[in-house]
Amino acid sequence: MNIVTTETQSASGNCIAREVPSPSEGWRSSMKAAFRSLDALCRYLELPVEAVASGLPATKDFPLFVPREFAAKMQPGDASDPLLRQVLPSEQETIATEGFTTNPVGDHEATLTPGLLQKYHGRALMITTGACAVHCRYCFRRHFPYGESPKGLEAWEPALAAIAEDASIQEILLSGGDPLTLSDPILRQLSHKIAQASHVQRLRIHTRLPIMIPSRVNDDLLAWLTETRLRPIMVVHANHPHELGDDVAAALGRLAEAGVPLMNQTVLLRGVNDDAATLIELSERLFACRVMPYYLHQLDRVAGAAHFQVERAQGLQIVATMRSSLPGYLVPRYVEEIAGDTSKRIIA
Ligand SMILES: *Cc1c(COP(=O)(O)O)cnc(C)c1O
Ligand code: SF4
Repeated sequence: MNIVTTETQSASGNCIAREVPSPSEGWRSSMKAAFRSLDALCRYLELPVEAVASGLPATKDFPLFVPREFAAKMQPGDASDPLLRQVLPSEQETIATEGFTTNPVGDHEATLTPGLLQKYHGRALMITTGACAVHCRYCFRRHFPYGESPKGLEAWEPALAAIAEDASIQEILLSGGDPLTLSDPILRQLSHKIAQASHVQRLRIHTRLPIMIPSRVNDDLLAWLTETRLRPIMVVHANHPHELGDDVAAALGRLAEAGVPLMNQTVLLRGVNDDAATLIELSERLFACRVMPYYLHQLDRVAGAAHFQVERAQGLQIVATMRSSLPGYLVPRYVEEIAGDTSKRIIA
């Protein structure tokens, strides 16, 4: 995972950092202003840094990165706030646990060309960047070798050529990292290139940015998303109803108004959302924000995240309670990813 600079696009050589960001690039200032030190985050949240300093060694290979918009939704003084727990480095991350590895979901085996993964029929996934708008401590790609993935339009040519050659690919997923850390001009050009393969019908964006920095949903983003021939779909990632403040609701509303179908995936996380009441409230809030619950993921067994794991038996109970309380369309599918499978495996 990389710390983001303002010159994200320099690899392509055709987009230089500008001195004066346009009004619609306010999200870049938010990226710059994000918390990158445990000390500063603790001061902001009125937490004694000693209480959490034990997490510091975990930041060596995976630094802290928390946007202010997200931190503002945390409860000051509460070290076990469910939003804080997602991003707070912990000494437990440095404990090796059997079965938790650096390649938990077979990404290396599924690589078609550098930067392009295919696991499932008809869908291929582009790793567009290693940068994210937040560093989630449980991230299944926290050890992914992003340095080996191509960056920028020229470097993506082999992946684009592979897409063009395979007529069975109907959908391209933009993933990463978070694709929306890239600039809109780059994303517009990328979507244009993907659309040149006439067999591709859908463009799916997997992103946490509308949740983390809602101002990312700006006119430029809406313009390229809706002008492409490809049918856009956005899958966001929220784990707790507190993440969906009014600012986030407004951003999601703009996407919905523009005709972009919105879905959410959640990771089942101990100490964050491992109770039915929280997940019921999340589903209801998502729907109010015009987002359909899609997947509830069993944690991928990535090294450093074992302390977030919720046992399947408990997960099944939670989902059963959700099913008895909510309309069917507000119950996400409880799934896990098994390397080598032909789809996500449905648990319930
Ligand atoms: C999860 C995943 C997808 C998407 O699967 P859906 O069930 O269609 O949401 C596609 N490609 C890869 C590599 C994935 O990991
Ligand atoms: S936003 Fe997604 S890819 Fe980025 S750190 Fe969080 S879980 Fe990982």
